[in-house]
Amino acid sequence: MHDVLIVGGGGAGLTASMLLSRLGVDHLLVSALPTTSALPKAHLLNQRTTEIFAGLGIAETVYRHGTPPEQMRSSRVNEHTNEKSR
Ligand SMILES: Cc1cc2nc3c(=O)[nH]c(=O)nc-3n(C[C@H](O)[C@H](O)[C@H](O)COP(=O)(O)OP(=O)(O)OC[C@H]3O[C@@H](n4cnc5c(N)ncnc54)[C@H](O)[C@@H]3O)c2cc1C
Repeated sequence: MHDVLIVGGGGAGLTASMLLSRLGVDHLLVSALPTTSALPKAHLLNQRTTEIFAGLGIAETVYRHGTPPEQMRSSRVNEHTNEKSR
C-alpha cells in the first residue's frame, strides 16, 4: 500500500514522482507504456518548467538531451520574430 498513486509516466507524472521523492512521500507511479516516448513531445519548455527542473537538479541533463539551439533557428516563430526585430 502506498500513500500516493500517480497514473501516467509522462512529463507531469514523472515530475510529480521526482518531487514526491524529494519530500520523502511514499508513492507508486504506474503507466500504460513501459518507456517514455521515442518521439519528441516538447522542443520548447516554458520558464516555470525549467525552474522546477533546476530545483530538482535535472535542468542541465535536460538541456544536454535537447535540440541544440542552433538547430532551432529555422522555426517559423523565430523567423517571424527576427523579421519583426529588423
Ligand atoms: C508533437 C508534440 C510536440 C509538442 N511540443 C511541445 C513543446 O514544444 N512544448 C511543450 O511545453 N509541450 C509540447 N507538447 C505537449 C507536451 O508534450 C504535453 O503537454 C505533455 O507531454 C503533457 O504531459 P502529461 O504528463 O500531462 O501527459 P503525457 O505526456 O501524455 O503522459 C501521459 C502518460 O499517461 C499514460 N496513461 C494514459 N492513460 C493511462 C491509464 N489509463 N493508465 C496508465 N497510464 C496511462 C500515457 O501512456 C502517458 O505515458 C507537444 C506534444 C506533442 C504531441
